Amino acid sequence: MITIHSLNKSFGSEHILKNISLNIKEGETVSILGPSGAGKSTLIRCLNFLENATSGYLTINNIEIDLTQADNKQKNAIRQCTGMVFQSFNLFSHLTALENIMLGLIKVKKLPKLEAKNKALKYLSLVGLADKADAYPARLSGGQQQRIGIARALALEPKILLMDEPTSALDPELVQEVLILIKEIAKENITLLVVTHEINFARQIADKIIFMEKGEVVAFEETEHFFAQHRSERIRQFFQNYN
Ligand code: ATP
Ligand code: MG
Repeated sequence: MITIHSLNKSFGSEHILKNISLNIKEGETVSILGPSGAGKSTLIRCLNFLENATSGYLTINNIEIDLTQADNKQKNAIRQCTGMVFQSFNLFSHLTALENIMLGLIKVKKLPKLEAKNKALKYLSLVGLADKADAYPARLSGGQQQRIGIARALALEPKILLMDEPTSALDPELVQEVLILIKEIAKENITLLVVTHEINFARQIADKIIFMEKGEVVAFEETEHFFAQHRSERIRQFFQNYN
């Protein structure tokens, strides 16, 4: 479903992502762990072209791209099948919950307004917020805003859903409602990539773990295997800081 081959990303003279190669299968849930500055966000942002990788090859949903020469048509084809959930929700404050979800359906999927509305309502119900359709983001809790952010991404029916620390901007008491929702999504056949600092959560939902450090993938393995043996000194240290 996602094949990354020799992906590099530099910001100016800073070589940030170093020769990343990964193969993620359809329907897999993969958590990306690693210390701050490791390049986790940059990696997933390169997958939907929020950042442009400097070099490498990417295949997503059978669309193959040489990243040094990707054109807009290819980028859009990949964006069409890739959804994103952000740490800071990124809802439009001047639109209601319902309108936030409808926007992409109208602009990206080109649905007629009524169809977009019905689909948006369906996804609002799915995240348990049907009664908040007309609320503006400022009137919603952080957890509710993030559930809207998730509904917005899911409504576009992506094959791949990318999440960048979806709970780290939330007050502790609001984290669970979002984690429970993500757990439900992980059971579906969607391919899910979640950057998270919630290690126990990663352990519960992920089929595989990617551990990154200093722009490199240090480990990419089955979750059980990853947690069974904290081999490298560096990964042990990382865990100690979270206990
Ligand atoms: P965190 O856990 O803190 O979110 P991260 O693993 O997501 O960290 P990234 O945000 O991907 O890390 O950043 C990786 C490196 O790339 C950092 O050194 C950061 O300073 C640098 N970087 C990220 N975005 C930019 C940018 N737009 N311009 C210049 N440098 C950047
Ligand atoms: Mg990050």
